[in-house]
Amino acid sequence: MNISIIGTGYVGLVTGACFAQLGHHVTCIDIDPDKIQKINQGISPIYEEGLDTLLTTYKDRITATTEYQAILNTDITFLCVGTPSNKDGSLDTSYLSEATIHIAQILKMKKTTHVMVVKSTVLPGTTQEIVLPLLEQHSGKKVGIDIGLAMNPEFLKEGVAIQDFLKPDRIVIGLYDEHSRKILRELYKDFTCPVLETTLSAAEMIKYASNAFLATKISFINEIGNLCKKQGIDTYDVAEGMGLDKRIGRAFLDAGIGWGGSCFPKDVDALISWAKQKKEPARIIEQTKAVNTDQPLRLVKILQKHIPQLKGKTIGILGLAFKPDTDDIRESRAIPIITELLRNKAHVKAYDPQAMKSFTQLFPTIEYCSSATEVLSSDAVLIITKWKEFTTLDYTGDLVIDGRRLPEAKNAKTYEGVCW
Ligand code: NAD
Repeated sequence: MNISIIGTGYVGLVTGACFAQLGHHVTCIDIDPDKIQKINQGISPIYEEGLDTLLTTYKDRITATTEYQAILNTDITFLCVGTPSNKDGSLDTSYLSEATIHIAQILKMKKTTHVMVVKSTVLPGTTQEIVLPLLEQHSGKKVGIDIGLAMNPEFLKEGVAIQDFLKPDRIVIGLYDEHSRKILRELYKDFTCPVLETTLSAAEMIKYASNAFLATKISFINEIGNLCKKQGIDTYDVAEGMGLDKRIGRAFLDAGIGWGGSCFPKDVDALISWAKQKKEPARIIEQTKAVNTDQPLRLVKILQKHIPQLKGKTIGILGLAFKPDTDDIRESRAIPIITELLRNKAHVKAYDPQAMKSFTQLFPTIEYCSSATEVLSSDAVLIITKWKEFTTLDYTGDLVIDGRRLPEAKNAKTYEGVCW
């Protein structure tokens, strides 16, 4: 199939590269010319394991451009632009609308039926109430007849995105029309996982409900972890015992300093804001967020038990990315922690294998180290991200406050964990 991808960030580029691996011809379209140039050189503009290799191996099947005109040579378009939060937490659909208008203007010239698939995370109703009317208004064509419409949420995790895309637990497809059903069935025919076909809105809601549930599972174990710490119980033993129950499962029960990233925070915010708009309480989801806001600051409180006056003290930070194996720092727990340390006038020195470049833009004045070892000679060391390379460090001389449960750090001179 000939596929166009609009928006070549984490989701768009992984989707494009993986479809190329599956034998399709892919055109990546983005407004950022630097990204386009890199993709055409076989270089991934983001750090994601295996993505460079896919881009170079399948370079004959991947083209990148800033020109929407390229859509005309494709049968199906995946809309993968960002859907960030507005200041009040509601969903900003401006990139989505802008891209939809551009697509519609090009589809005006297309002679054959084209399928448009929303892959960006959007609130229930968005595809039908925003994308569909814009498509019709700017193309002069009828959705459901000249243009097929579908919603196909993405569940990949950064760091293991390629594996998640190629071997997903499930594929969810919300459908508006029969032509889209036919094309998407064909596109996903070699996947062995369950494929759920449903309505546009149900597909949109499945994504939000899944992310809110996972965020809640983490906040739940963090709350249990805070209680366990008070009683000297090992939270990880508790998680083990809970996880053996098939109804619960062990995944997402790693207590720590909470969740961040580009998805959970904004999706939880959008759901809360949407619930308000619908005049329905979202009590569980609101508390999920509240626990997550407090959790990283607990690490600083524990640090202050050991060093009451942080002013002038050097605090080493291991990890800035929101999780290991990514350079993504969006809503990283490092942000509130470093903000609090700086508020207390501590000197912060930090190291991350991938995320220092983007972090510099947020915090230009802290000290960035060229190796993890350099961070160790500090008054205290905080473990923020569980990068594999932090497991090989010699912590024996240090005061370590651990936010991520790194077993090797227990060898520290003084060691304390956030929930253990
Ligand atoms: P991103 O910010 O990494 O990438 C978005 C891309 O869209 C950027 O490259 C940007 O330049 C481009 N763009 C913006 N406006 C455009 C336009 N008018 N035309 C063409 N390109 C345009 O975002 P992302 O992390 O890939 O997320 C994309 C969507 O997928 C979001 O809705 C997100 O919630 C969802 N999602 C993300 C993940 C994840 O792990 N990152 C997982 C599942 C779903």
